[in-house]
This record gives sequence, structure tokens and C-alpha cells, in this order.
Amino acid sequence: MSGAAADRFFQPVSGFDLPRFAGIPTFMRLPHVGFDHPRIGEVQIGLIGAPWDGGTTNRPGPRHGPRQLRDLSTMIRAVNGATWVAPFDLARCADLGDVAPNPGDLMDSLARMEAFYARVRAAGILPLTGGGDHLCTLPILRALGRGRALGMIQFDSHSDLNDVYFGTSRYNHGTPFRRAVEEGLLDPKRYVIIGIRGTAYGREDWEFAASVGIRIIPIAEFHARGAGDVMQEAREIVGLGETYVTYDIDFVDPTFAPGTGTPEVGGPSSWQALQVARGLRGLNVVGADLVEVSPPFDASGGTAWLGVSLMFEMLCVMAERLGASPQTPGVVVPR
Ligand code: MN
Ligand code: MN
Repeated sequence: MSGAAADRFFQPVSGFDLPRFAGIPTFMRLPHVGFDHPRIGEVQIGLIGAPWDGGTTNRPGPRHGPRQLRDLSTMIRAVNGATWVAPFDLARCADLGDVAPNPGDLMDSLARMEAFYARVRAAGILPLTGGGDHLCTLPILRALGRGRALGMIQFDSHSDLNDVYFGTSRYNHGTPFRRAVEEGLLDPKRYVIIGIRGTAYGREDWEFAASVGIRIIPIAEFHARGAGDVMQEAREIVGLGETYVTYDIDFVDPTFAPGTGTPEVGGPSSWQALQVARGLRGLNVVGADLVEVSPPFDASGGTAWLGVSLMFEMLCVMAERLGASPQTPGVVVPR
């Protein structure tokens, strides 16, 4: 039993101690450990809510995502039934609470989020974020990628590499990764986008990607090759360097994930959505997020449930790598 498992404080509340529908819903029933908590220095992976959708260009609502994700996350149990990874035994995980945006000021919101994640990075905590719209990922990358251009795997039905909207808007959820590449936060040659589909404004984002070396795997190629083959290529592109994972729930087909602002048909199933997340095992993931869940369009809660299920898969990948050593039985870290 590792140190994380031996310390009950960092274990989630069991469904056998308190029914899953009862109690205050933190992410995955973990302890809430804010920056002023005496045990913040022990946290290795911080689950964080980013309740902000100031970058949304179409149907809004992801500002309500973290509450809904936390609620549905109470159904997550402690052991991954597919990989048998037990993340809460491998790493000390906690709910760090929400980053506080300024709902009336986009630029101030970006600054507030960057400052929050800079504190997370300085504390040596790996962040796993529930959004929020996809612009939330830009201030996270500004904090995590400063001074070290990160690799990135992006699951999304849109590239989010557009330059400008309405002639003036350089910061919205269609532009974050154009800015991140421009600002040197991402290494475009270690950056792969998987799942692109739907109608487009044009080919300008594709042309930008090609000009800087970003690999785009469109949905037709994904369906033709399958999740395993595509993830093998993605793993080779990012290698074992520091890598961020950003997961837009609209990667998944709207049959499975209707509760999002900009759905695109013809996408992966919920099973394929899990497969690609498991395909991250062994990578050097320094942070991850799940964005664009919009509760007002998620009548059944099923989109949020898929979202937190994917957060759990990414948490397993992060915890497994933190907890892995040659002495850890049952953990196989792919090279
Ligand atoms: Mn996106
Ligand atoms: Mn998208």
C-alpha cells in the first residue's frame, strides 16, 4: 500500500459509508483542499472547476459545467474496472475548488485563471480541470507552458485554431490554440488534434496547422483507422516529453454527448471516447481538462456523466505515472 492509500484523508468518501446521492458533492468525493488548507502542500493532483464560458460564440452554458460535473462525479468509484488502476492509491488527489473568473470582463478572467494555475504549478500540483468553455485552456497553458513549450493532444470536433472572429475577437473558444502556439506555450511539432469534422468557415485553420507542423487527424481517418491505431500515432508525436491533454466533449458524437454548445454529427461513440483516453497511458501528462459540457443542454445529465467518466480516465493516467515504479506490481508503463 502506497503512502496515498495509507492516508485516509486523501481517499474519496466511500459509497458504503455515505450513499452516493448524499453529502456535499466535491469532485469524485475527494476532500476539498483550497490554497489556504494546511495539507495543500501534500496534494499531487488537483481537480479544479473552471466555471466560465466568456469565450462562447454559440449556445452558452459551460459556466455551469463544474457544478454538474461534480454532482455526477459522485457516481465514480475508486477503481478503474478496465485497467484496474486505483488512482487514489497511487497519488494524493483533492478538489482544489473553483478558479474565480470575472463574469463581466473577459481579459480579467483570463488573468485570474492564469494566476490561479500559476499557483497550482508552483505548488507542484498537476491540474485536472472541469470546464468551462475551451477558452479556459488558454490561461491554463499560459501558466503551465511558460518557459517550456508543451506537447498537446486535443480531442475535439473543431481545431480551435482560428485567428479572429468578427474582425476583432482574438480571444474566444474558437481561437485558444492559435494564441497558445503564437505565444510559444505549445510545441506545434508535438501537437496533435483528433476528431475534426463538420462545416467550416474555410481552410485557414488547416493551412495554419500545416504551416507550423500541427498534425490534424480528421474524423474520417479516425473511423477508418480506429482508436488504437490513431492513439499510437498520437503517442509517437508527443513522445515522453511534458504533454497537456485537452478534451472537448464535442469530440464525442451528439448522440452520446448532446449537452454541449457546438455539436457536430458523425463523431466517436462513448466507448471510443473512453478508448482514446486509455490510449494516453504512460505519457508524461502534466495537466488535463474536460471542457464544453453545457448543463442547460444536458437534460438527462448524460453528457456530464460521460465528461466525468473521461476525467476519471485521465486521472488514472496521471496517477498511474506518478505512482509507477518498477516495484509497483500490476503497473505497466508503456515506453
Ligand atoms: Mn474546442
Ligand atoms: Mn469543439
